[in-house]
Order: sequence, then C-alpha cells, then structure tokens
Amino acid sequence: MTTKRDYYEILGINRNANSDELKAAYRKLALKYHPDRNPGDKDSEEKFKEAAEAYEVLHDAKKRAIYDQYGHQGLNGAGFSGFGGFEDIFSSFGDIFEDFFGFGGNRRSRSKTQRGSDLRYDIKLTFMEAAFGIEKEINIEKAETCPECKGSRTEPGTQPETCRHCHGSGQLSQNQGFFTLRTSCHFCKGSGQTITHPCNKCQGIGKIIINKKVSLKIPAGVDSGSRLRLTGEGESGPYGGANGDLYVFIHVEPHEFFERDEIDVYCKIPISFVQAALGDKITVPTLNGKKTITISKGTQPGDVIKLQNEGIPHLRSHMRGDLIIQFNIKTPTNLTKKQESILKEFAALESSKLSSKLKNILQNVSAGNSK
Ligand SMILES: [Zn+2]
Ligand SMILES: [Zn+2]
Repeated sequence: MTTKRDYYEILGINRNANSDELKAAYRKLALKYHPDRNPGDKDSEEKFKEAAEAYEVLHDAKKRAIYDQYGHQGLNGAGFSGFGGFEDIFSSFGDIFEDFFGFGGNRRSRSKTQRGSDLRYDIKLTFMEAAFGIEKEINIEKAETCPECKGSRTEPGTQPETCRHCHGSGQLSQNQGFFTLRTSCHFCKGSGQTITHPCNKCQGIGKIIINKKVSLKIPAGVDSGSRLRLTGEGESGPYGGANGDLYVFIHVEPHEFFERDEIDVYCKIPISFVQAALGDKITVPTLNGKKTITISKGTQPGDVIKLQNEGIPHLRSHMRGDLIIQFNIKTPTNLTKKQESILKEFAALESSKLSSKLKNILQNVSAGNSK
C-alpha cells in the first residue's frame, strides 16, 4: 500500500478548520478535478478521489477524531478503507454533489421538504350570488401525507432498503467514451431506496386521497375570471413541507334579464310606442327588487335611464355600479280596425311634418344623381 497523504494537506486547510472551511476547500478541489471536467485525466481522477476521501473522513466528527488521534492507521482499524471508485464516491456523496454541481435535480427533493401542490377548483355562481356574495361549502378531493407512514411509504416499523441498482444514489451512471452519463435510477425512481414493505394504508404511495369540506366566503362583486386563494388548503407537502394553496376559479352564469359590464348592469325594457310618445310610470325589476321609474314624453329608441348605485358592488371598494335601463320601443302588430283607423288619422296629421324634411333630402339625392 502506498503511503497516504495527510487529509488536511490534501484539502489545504489547517487542523482546526471548521466545517464551512472544510466544505469550501473540498468544493474547490472537487470542481477542479471533477471527472466530467477532466475526461480521461488519470492525475485529476486521483486527486478527485483523494479529496473525496479526505472530505469523507474530516466532515464526520467521529472519523475525524480517530484520524486526528491515530492517523490513517486508526481509520483502517475502524473499518474505513477509502473508496473503490467513482461510483462509491457518488453514492456516499449524493447530497453534497448536488449542492456543488446542481445535477440530479430530481434527487434534490428526496430528503428536503417541498411545498405541496396548489389545487384548482372551479365554481359556478348565479348572477345574483356573484353580485351580492355568498358563503358556500365545497368538497375538494386532495392528496394528503399518509398519516400512517407519515409519507415515508414504508410500513411503520420497517425500513426501506438501499436500491440495489443505484446503491442509494438515485442515479445510474453509464460510461460513454470520454464522459459519464448519469440518469435518474428508474428502479427506485431516483429515491435511492426500495420499499420492501409498502405502507398498508397508502399502498406505499406516501399519500392518501381525502375529501375535505372547505367553506368559501365569496365576496360581493366577483365576476367570471375572479380567483380566490385559500392559503394552505392545497395538498400537503412531502417530508413535512408546507401545504399548497387552493385556488377557486369563479364562473358566473348569465342572467336572463340583466347583463353585466364590470360593475354596471344593463337591461332592456320593452315599452309601447304610445308610452314612448306620451310618457308613463312603470315598474321595473332591479337587483334589489322592484322600482317605479318614469318614462319621459318623447322617449326615443335606445334612450336610457340610469339608476345610480343600483349596479354591482365593487369588489375592493364601497363603490357600486349603476343600473342602466334601455328602452326597447315596440311597434304594434295585429292592430284592430279601430286602432288602425286612429293611427291613420294620426298619420294624416303627422305626415306633413315628416315628409317636408324627407322631401328636402330626396331632392338633394336626385340632384346629386343627375350630375
Ligand atoms: Zn402510508
Ligand atoms: Zn435506484
């Protein structure tokens, strides 16, 4: 056996270096001599292994104490004999390599907490429910961390085994000429572990589907496209991570009479041409019940009456929109003989006024045509 260099010397740190200094020193060397960066370079490979071994010993308080006291000999006695090859290095340093090089993105999540997924729930509201707000209870289906195995996927009292294929690294390496190709281990899906006794309650999934009633307070003034966020009502995070959020997407059904444009409400009221001509008082529906309004004399098609603050409450202020009533003037059909004769009489009185204006226009048109 060749004589081994001093671990502190390899890493270029002094004997009382703390763990941060140790990590930083190792990181520097590991990056410099990483096989991906030095394909086929035997010297780099040796240095890389050397540094890995030094780090492996010194970052472990127990091994470091043995080494400090008894040197390499002491470690051999304690059953540590360095690394065989790269696979060994990668399998025992999975986590630190991820930190250093950022590869194996999937594995990163293995032992670290993660926020649960957000959930989406779509809800239909009637026009009035959206206008005035409502409290509703909804039933959502979501995955929660299995209470039996706490998400570990293994039956309580049993332990998962290290994956035989990737030796716990969660990655498989393949030598492809000069470089090493690493893929997520498909046997253990990158977890590095094989569950031999899957949890009974969740069948080894680590999650169970639950139904949960959630009460929703829908504020007045929401509209299609509004979204409510219920913090923490999403799925629970793996490994004790925070819950995701629940997003409730709102869809408002159209109303048979009222139409909405943001906070203003429009409606069309049919009136007879007589009401339009003579004026009238009529009762109309509003969002807040019936109301009597006055049609003024000589109302024209398309004329509107605006009822202020009879629209939809503004979602984020105390403002309220208006109700805009548009008159739809109906031409009578199926006239009785008597109605017809009255109208003819009326027309005789009207015609002179109308036709004089029309006559002018017609004259201009024919003059223009003859040019
Ligand atoms: Zn379970
Ligand atoms: Zn595996």
